[in-house]
Amino acid sequence: MTAKIISGRDVAEHILENELSKKVEVLKSKGVIPNLVVILVGEMKASASYVAQKEKFAAKAGIKSEVRRFTAEITEQEILSEIDKINQDPLIHGVIVQLPLPDHISVAKVLNRIDPSKDVDGFTPNNVGKLFLGEDTLVSCTPKGIMQMLRISGTDLNGKNVTVIGRSNIVGKPVSILCQSENATVTMCHSRTKDLNHKLADADVIIVAVGVPKFVTGEQIPDGAVVIDVGIHNIDGKLCGDVDFDSAKEKASAITPVPGGVGPMTVCALIENTIIAAERINSA
Ligand code: NAP
Repeated sequence: MTAKIISGRDVAEHILENELSKKVEVLKSKGVIPNLVVILVGEMKASASYVAQKEKFAAKAGIKSEVRRFTAEITEQEILSEIDKINQDPLIHGVIVQLPLPDHISVAKVLNRIDPSKDVDGFTPNNVGKLFLGEDTLVSCTPKGIMQMLRISGTDLNGKNVTVIGRSNIVGKPVSILCQSENATVTMCHSRTKDLNHKLADADVIIVAVGVPKFVTGEQIPDGAVVIDVGIHNIDGKLCGDVDFDSAKEKASAITPVPGGVGPMTVCALIENTIIAAERINSA
């Protein structure tokens, strides 16, 4: 079997044309231009590249985005004050703090300061709690993008077995909750999981977010499973994921590539969240 490739780039374009552009037009007709502010601290190349992708997609969607750049020497208090200013600005609808931050700054403190109604990364305890309770909320971008890819590529999760590898707060945990809310039976795996192969053997869908290049290989994938590869690594100038794509595509029925898979969907979900935040703020 050679897997169908689920292109995140194509799905993101589809959502942009069919859903986001229309919502932006409606907002603009009411005099509202969705506005995203990205706080970028330091000079990390990877962070700068992710931020550039976000700016590019925001421009394509016709929304405003602004990057506020700070040196790595900025104090925690200065970032908190910047967030306070953004929280109070009625013309800003979404704010994200590009991670990682320098060690002297508490990520939890900074994220907790963001007004939940502008928390378009969906990282604040308020939004995470609502997700857990199944309430309407701003859902964190990578899990949201994964669910959209599954939906648009025609994978119905109802009654399916989903194995998630990785239990991070930004990917593994929220995506497992979202899959359960679509009536999947979810197995969560992590670094202490015994016999991972056994946990993969009856999976209909496998979501891999471990942060280890080519961690899952074709031999571990049951015939016909759908494989979502969240990882992204630059190995000697070449990008790869947490899944060994070449062997996995021979076993899976569908698979996301790296690059061009989950990454563009994460960006698309961020812009969608900004549009949703603008809609909600202006209807309140
Ligand atoms: P993370 O916070 O580093 O978490 C990694 C998870 O994998 C942890 O739960 C860890 O278990 C588990 N793990 C590590 N080694 C394992 C092993 N040998 N067996 C089983 N589980 C193992 O990672 P993350 O933030 O979720 O990111 C994962 C990957 O996705 C990274 O490559 C990251 O760059 C990428 N990423 C991509 C996007 C995108 O938009 N494309 C977005 C976010 C992340 P423990 O909890 O037991 O330590």
